[in-house]
Amino acid sequence: ETDLERPSETRIITVSNQKGGVGKTTSTVNLAAALADHGFNVLVIDIDPQGNASTALGVPHSADTDSIYDVLIDDLSIAEVVAQCPDVDRLSVVPATIHLAGAEIELVSLVAREQRLQRALEEYQRHRETEGQERLDYVFIDCPPSLGLLTVNAFVAAKEVLIPIQCEYYALEGLSQLLNNINMIQKHLNPPLRVSTILLTMYDARTNLASQVVQEVKQHFPNEVLEAKIPRSVRIAEAPSYQQSVISYDRSSTGALAYLEAAAEIVQRGR
Ligand code: ADP
Ligand code: MG
Repeated sequence: ETDLERPSETRIITVSNQKGGVGKTTSTVNLAAALADHGFNVLVIDIDPQGNASTALGVPHSADTDSIYDVLIDDLSIAEVVAQCPDVDRLSVVPATIHLAGAEIELVSLVAREQRLQRALEEYQRHRETEGQERLDYVFIDCPPSLGLLTVNAFVAAKEVLIPIQCEYYALEGLSQLLNNINMIQKHLNPPLRVSTILLTMYDARTNLASQVVQEVKQHFPNEVLEAKIPRSVRIAEAPSYQQSVISYDRSSTGALAYLEAAAEIVQRGR
């Protein structure tokens, strides 16, 4: 139902911002669901100990669920922990459990501590190939609001960073620290890494403030800001409590349409 082309290789996108509450998880979940809806094979990797992306996509993530923790710390393979999203075809999820809260410390003493997610993901892509499964088109990694080893693993595993920015005062505050970290990872661990996408979230078109923020962000990131902005929307906020993306919760809502549009733009800009 779409004329959007598949990428020539899997696009691995880390969703990061060290501020909490800016829409990282909401954007991960809904962009992933929107891309699956557009017909792509999508994987979400939840590396936030809060496990909000796992909750929102309706996959089990109680303490006894095998999860990304076991992949990072105990060398389980992604194939052993991945779960199909019950609500969305073509979308699977590597869940996070509460154990991940300890991983930040446990990783410190492990070999290849920065590369563990990258290696697991490469191995999983080879595994899918040998199993005759379709190639993944998009992988989204939902980061915690910090710049510790979990986020470093996400930066090393990805080629792209997507930064959600909330349209509010001080929207850009703290971003230079994030950008410095990305530069450092690029220099020392993962040369192809770049900030490919800025997504403006919780946008309220009625306020002058919102359009001022848009102008300011565009000045800093002339080529990265998506035209599609995500409006502040009750539907978006409600959907996770029904364990649904906003796309399945209320497909005709402004929030769902905005995420579908942002997803299409991400596809087109990747060409
Ligand atoms: P983060 O992952 O960056 O901490 P979340 O995605 O969890 O941020 O969003 C923080 C809160 O804001 C959540 O309660 C979420 O439901 C709400 N939220 C996110 N985006 C929107 C939006 N566009 N409209 C309304 N509420 C939103
Ligand atoms: Mg989050």
